[in-house]
Amino acid sequence: MIIAVASGKGGTGKTLVATSLALSLQSRKPVQFLDCDVEEPDAHIFLKPSLNHKQVVSIPIPQVDEKKCTYCGRCAEVCAYNAIAVLGEKVLIFPELCHGCGACSYLCPEGALSEIGKEMGILETGQSKGIEFIHGKLTVGEAMAPPVIREVKKHINRESLAIIDVSPGTSCPVVEAVRGSDFCLLVTEPTPFGLNDLALAVALLNKLDIPSGVVINRDGAGDSKVEEYCHQEGIPILLRIPLKIEIAQLYSKGITLVEGMPQWRGAFIKLYNDIEQIVST
Ligand code: SF4
Ligand code: SF4
Repeated sequence: MIIAVASGKGGTGKTLVATSLALSLQSRKPVQFLDCDVEEPDAHIFLKPSLNHKQVVSIPIPQVDEKKCTYCGRCAEVCAYNAIAVLGEKVLIFPELCHGCGACSYLCPEGALSEIGKEMGILETGQSKGIEFIHGKLTVGEAMAPPVIREVKKHINRESLAIIDVSPGTSCPVVEAVRGSDFCLLVTEPTPFGLNDLALAVALLNKLDIPSGVVINRDGAGDSKVEEYCHQEGIPILLRIPLKIEIAQLYSKGITLVEGMPQWRGAFIKLYNDIEQIVST
């Protein structure tokens, strides 16, 4: 089963939930943890994996051979991302817009375009406390996270429970990370900001046809609007984590909730059982 752990906004405690879910289940089944928050991966701070493999993630970018080019403009026509333009007798390539789809070089009638790899980030794998750990890191200054996320997700083993830590928000990296998941846990907080961003995330998951449930973090602070919204929309609230100074202190020290407060382990096992039941029905 693949469970994505997402949140409409940052700072809701998404990694706190994802890491404790993984740790609570690793003695019961094979668990993979995939940190797809590649712009700011932080699960390694909590899971402290020993990383033993590293690879560069790159995408193919076209380069033109001016001797073969007839400036027909076909490459610019087929590029859906405006990453290539032909102006008179000049072919301009904009690597920061290129998605590496290969359409231009495939369709160039003169074979004037070849491809070179452009580094987008790195991927590291290892082990952590009985969990297979994989994370990606986007190169600083790069804007396109999906190629790195796709590379991380290639490691998913359907025989294991794969837990995906998704970046906050509802943009392309979130779509790429949650796509193909069996379930998405949405971590939110009971505030107007939390509600606004939760509703955006729910709309996205509805479009992707992925069932979801909510974890309310810092329960007891704020108001009851998130709860009312979930009731209205028929979205189950699967776990509540209270606003407690002890939990915040653990988090600030890089200690997972279930390691710092083992009494929470049962709640995370129940959370998984509830998800399994929702997915099976
Ligand atoms: S499609 Fe090929 S030949 Fe035509 S302009 Fe582009 S690079 Fe040149
Ligand atoms: S590889 Fe794809 S995205 Fe990049 S320039 Fe060619 S057609 Fe455009």
